[in-house]
Amino acid sequence: MFPFELLSSEASAANLRQQVRWREGLQCPHYRSESVIKHGSYREYQRYLCKDCDRTFNDKTGTIFAHAKIGLDKLLFAFYSFLRFNTSIRQLDAELDVSYRSLHRRVEQFARTLDVPAISLVGPSEIDEFYVSAGKKGRERDRESRSRGLSKLGQGTYEGVQATGVHTR
Ligand SMILES: [Zn+2]
Repeated sequence: MFPFELLSSEASAANLRQQVRWREGLQCPHYRSESVIKHGSYREYQRYLCKDCDRTFNDKTGTIFAHAKIGLDKLLFAFYSFLRFNTSIRQLDAELDVSYRSLHRRVEQFARTLDVPAISLVGPSEIDEFYVSAGKKGRERDRESRSRGLSKLGQGTYEGVQATGVHTR
C-alpha cells in the first residue's frame, strides 16, 4: 500500500527523510563525526553544523536527493510509480509537472543506487522481482550503499527495495 499521507507534501516527505536517514544516529557525511549540532534549515530540510570539520550539511547532503529541483514528495512518488507500475518518465513528467531532464536524471541515479544493471528508461520495462522489506536486510544494504558514498532511498516501507532482472520489452 502506497503511503500517501507520508508524501502529501514536501515537508512531510522531508520529515520522513530525516527519520530514516539518521535512525542510527546523526553523523557528519564528510568525516563521519558525531559532533554535530542543528544549524537552521535548508528549505524544508534540517541543516546541521559539524563541529569537527566546520562544514554544514542537511538531510539530503550526500544522497541521490541532494540539490534536486524536484520536491522529495514528487521524487519518491515517481520512483515508486516507475518501479511498481512501469510508468514512463514522460507520463510522470506530465503528471507531476516537473522537468523531464531532472526527473530522468534522478530516476537514473536511483536505479544505479539499486544496482539495477543497464536499466532502460525508454519504453516500458519490466521488473521480474520486486519486493520491499523493512527488515534487517534493508539496513544492511543501506550501510553498503552508504560506504560507496550514496545513501539509499530507505524510506519507511521502501527500505531494502530490491530489484533483480530488469528486462526491456
Ligand atoms: Zn564533519
